[in-house]
Amino acid sequence: MCCFTTHVSELPKPSWTICPHCTGFGCGIYPTRPASCRAFECGWYRDPAAPDDLRPDRCGVMIEVLDGTHVVMAVVDPQRPSAWKSDIVTPWLRRLVDAGHPVIVRAGPEPPPCFLIRDTQDISAVEATMKWLDTLAKKAAEPGVCQSLLHGGVA
Ligand code: SF4
Repeated sequence: MCCFTTHVSELPKPSWTICPHCTGFGCGIYPTRPASCRAFECGWYRDPAAPDDLRPDRCGVMIEVLDGTHVVMAVVDPQRPSAWKSDIVTPWLRRLVDAGHPVIVRAGPEPPPCFLIRDTQDISAVEATMKWLDTLAKKAAEPGVCQSLLHGGVA
């Protein structure tokens, strides 16, 4: 799913398009994949306690803790825009919120993001993160800027 939702700055691959190197079973250039692909950390993959049912292609939601923040981005498969409300994903997101992570849910490039927060103090963290993403998006046209976090082209 990350090979669809995520912009890869080193390739002609914008957000919300399938990567030309995606074989349908994996990465066709895995040994030589770009640095931003290597740096990407899938929240499900990184969580040894996360069950197989939460694998992004199965549950329709991919999560990532945004660099330098405690904010979680939950990117939803636009073919399944309600996937984040499922019985399996909602408790996962709720646990993250209870653990102090504001969660930004994005379900495609167009709809505005939805926030899951624990209390009003988290609003400032979300706002700061959205400003930071906006700055990255504005720099996105500049060569060399890693856009791996610009899911959905936040702008
Ligand atoms: S290069 Fe490989 S890992 Fe990177 S987005 Fe394309 S298919 Fe995915």
